[in-house]
Amino acid sequence: MIERKHKVYLQNFVERNMHILPQPKKIERLNGSFCIDKNCDIHTNPLFLSQANRFAELVENCCGFRPSVVDDMESSRVIFNLDETYRHEQYSVMISDGVATVIAGDEAGCFYAVETLRQLLSLDFKQEIVSCENCYLTDQPKFGYRGLMLDVCRHFFGVDTVKTIIDLMARLKMNKLHLHLSDDQGFRMEIKKYPLVNTIGSVRGGSEVVSDGKRYVDEIPHEGYFTQDELRGLVAYAQERHIDIVPEFDVPGHCIALIAAYPELSCSGKVTEVRKKWGISKDILCAGNDKVYEVVRDILDEICDIFPSEYIHLGGDEAPKERWCNCKLCKQRLSELKLGSFEKLQTYMVECFREHLAEKGRKVICWNDGLGDDANGEIVSQVWWVHGCAKRTATKQINNGRKAIMSATPYVYFDYPYSVTPLKKTLSYNPLGGVRASARENVLGVEGALWTEYVADTDKLFFNLLPRLDVLAECAWGYHTNKFFRYLREKFAVYSALGLTFNGNINDNGPIKRRATTRKFWHENSNVEVDAYKAAHADKD
Ligand SMILES: [Zn+2]
Ligand SMILES: [Zn+2]
Repeated sequence: MIERKHKVYLQNFVERNMHILPQPKKIERLNGSFCIDKNCDIHTNPLFLSQANRFAELVENCCGFRPSVVDDMESSRVIFNLDETYRHEQYSVMISDGVATVIAGDEAGCFYAVETLRQLLSLDFKQEIVSCENCYLTDQPKFGYRGLMLDVCRHFFGVDTVKTIIDLMARLKMNKLHLHLSDDQGFRMEIKKYPLVNTIGSVRGGSEVVSDGKRYVDEIPHEGYFTQDELRGLVAYAQERHIDIVPEFDVPGHCIALIAAYPELSCSGKVTEVRKKWGISKDILCAGNDKVYEVVRDILDEICDIFPSEYIHLGGDEAPKERWCNCKLCKQRLSELKLGSFEKLQTYMVECFREHLAEKGRKVICWNDGLGDDANGEIVSQVWWVHGCAKRTATKQINNGRKAIMSATPYVYFDYPYSVTPLKKTLSYNPLGGVRASARENVLGVEGALWTEYVADTDKLFFNLLPRLDVLAECAWGYHTNKFFRYLREKFAVYSALGLTFNGNINDNGPIKRRATTRKFWHENSNVEVDAYKAAHADKD
């Protein structure tokens, strides 16, 4: 990692208050200002004690003294109150007459109020006096599902990186981290009942790379998986920050790592290796073999033991049916069930697992290209594939009652270079586009996707993620104004202070011309941007 400093940003920054991102529903500046000194006490409703303590800790880290939490409200200058009429995640902050009063209806709302105070009072930076202008602010999100997907399969990123991402999300009031835990190139969760999933399925012999315009497999082993204890730790860490981790076990496609460990789960039963190249494999789980159903259910049981999430993601994307067409067991299953098409056989297979999860009180999410109109109406569609007639199909399903999470590739796929998907493009994303007014409540929210075929290290990971995460949160929270990019520049001081790579180039469309080139070209040249960043900062720092 390069030592990163942004002195210019910091100098400009301390002269004014931090603006709030995502922008709140309503903020009104009032006359006068508020400051916190050593005599500042905090009073809180007992329900919000942990948030009051968290606020005290932020102040302590910022200016070296810790406000006391006291019983006496009269003498207190920061007050946390409960109002049960407030909705989930709703809060307000009133700062006037020397007192800051937070009101929330639940712990999540109070957590977000503290994040707002962190920004208003610039608590991320060392100061002798903490102060801000008086204001009145009311806030609640437009969308209940505000997510980010991280692909830890194509490249494995461990506990520390995931915790950093959780922290960044919490600052932005996001609440769902979707972990893509299984794919052709690696299975990333410890499975106790099937240990070969890890000894074989979590290791691959090499990775497809592009260098000097040449594409090849580097034959450098890449491996890693989360132990169940680590995952429990991450779940708890995220929960403290009001983030649910949504686990994904992708079936029946994208399963080569599992098949490498247990070849009998594919149609051919042939021994294969964990896939080194990217792209789509023709080998998928056999839909006619009862053993497949048993193993998938067992793995789902272990997933449910660890992740309390309301939603379990079953993938379902990019599952070519070529092998099924030539498999005795699959053809037999098809005719027994009188399904008529192999697409319907996938619907049947997913339905078996959905029923299993429903018995445990869980709901299922699938990628939209795996969801035919015949798929169970309870399955939530994650709408990523919007080319051709796919967008119309997905929108029709939403209008007919299917719940959805919006992740359209051209807007919120963060593996793409900025010159292909500029920040302004992401900010222009309207997740409700095409959805009838009466069906809008079916859109649960928005999720960005960070695929990692071409993201091999944390420098590129954070460069591609920041500040797109801020833009995504702005879309999901839902009160965008034209001040956004001005406020966003202030946030760069935080990213610098955290030592993270980020793209500070808001307006430049960069070296890759979108219209003239192909997706393959974007990927092959996608290191250009982060390399330019690193070169520029290596000079200055
Ligand atoms: Zn720098
Ligand atoms: Zn088969």
